[in-house]
Amino acid sequence: MFSVTITGQVALVTGAGRGIGKAIARGLVEAGAVVAVNDIDATSAQRTAAELGGAAQAYPADVSDPGAVQAMIDQIAADLGGPHILVNNAGIEYKTPVLETPVAEWQRTLDVNLSAAFYTSQAAGERMRAAGGGVIVNIASIAGHNIPLPNRASYVASKAGLIGFTKECAREFAAYGIRVNAVCPGVIETEMTAESRSNSAQLEKWLADIPQGRLGTPADVVGLVLFLCSDGARYLTGQAINVDGGKVML
Ligand code: NAP
Repeated sequence: MFSVTITGQVALVTGAGRGIGKAIARGLVEAGAVVAVNDIDATSAQRTAAELGGAAQAYPADVSDPGAVQAMIDQIAADLGGPHILVNNAGIEYKTPVLETPVAEWQRTLDVNLSAAFYTSQAAGERMRAAGGGVIVNIASIAGHNIPLPNRASYVASKAGLIGFTKECAREFAAYGIRVNAVCPGVIETEMTAESRSNSAQLEKWLADIPQGRLGTPADVVGLVLFLCSDGARYLTGQAINVDGGKVML
């Protein structure tokens, strides 16, 4: 297991009630950080925080609500300090053809997968600037690079937007000592992909495209996130890095 030390840092991980976010929250706690566990579902946020022990605390909120985000980050700062690290992980995905996508579905995807990162980066970025530095990691997707997925236009657009937003923030925030990068997972075994993975034709197609010959697990994403949060990545900003078993080689 890859290991880094991130002590004395307060990290906010959004959508950490389950899946990739939960694995990242666990990795950060194991690396020595204090972790604010966010999720829209209060029960799952509290369950994750309880599993991770005293270094984790639950902060349930809908990150697509800018007022709720500001209140959450103010509360984290008051309770724990920081945040010094922000991991924008919360995400949703609809599988609908463009011509049948309701406006509300398109809007909700952009709100959660893209606008939420703007709200959190603004609120946490202000505090990081005042503190003289920080780290932001945005969990995008290989879908945001150059891999359009059938029937997922709102998702692909949101993740491409998130990669663009990452680069823009990296450029602006460098002057404040804040590094901003994106992590782009391939197909990871979580609830988000459960339905597609249960389709054997789809699964076979995915596996045929992955040189390492297997899907990823949430734990496979953690090492890269920890590295990006660590001092070892001090000269690394504005990048969107795939973690996908070699599926996409740019
Ligand atoms: P997941 O299992 O569906 O977990 C996502 C978590 O985010 C859920 O706990 C969900 O809560 C929470 N969430 C949703 N909307 C939220 C909101 N408005 N505010 C706060 N929390 C919210 O998904 P995952 O597979 O772990 O995905 C995590 C991230 O990785 C997402 O950004 C996803 O796009 C990205 N990603 C995943 C894959 C993959 O193959 N799994 C690949 C590439 C990128 P509820 O369920 O209660 O709504």
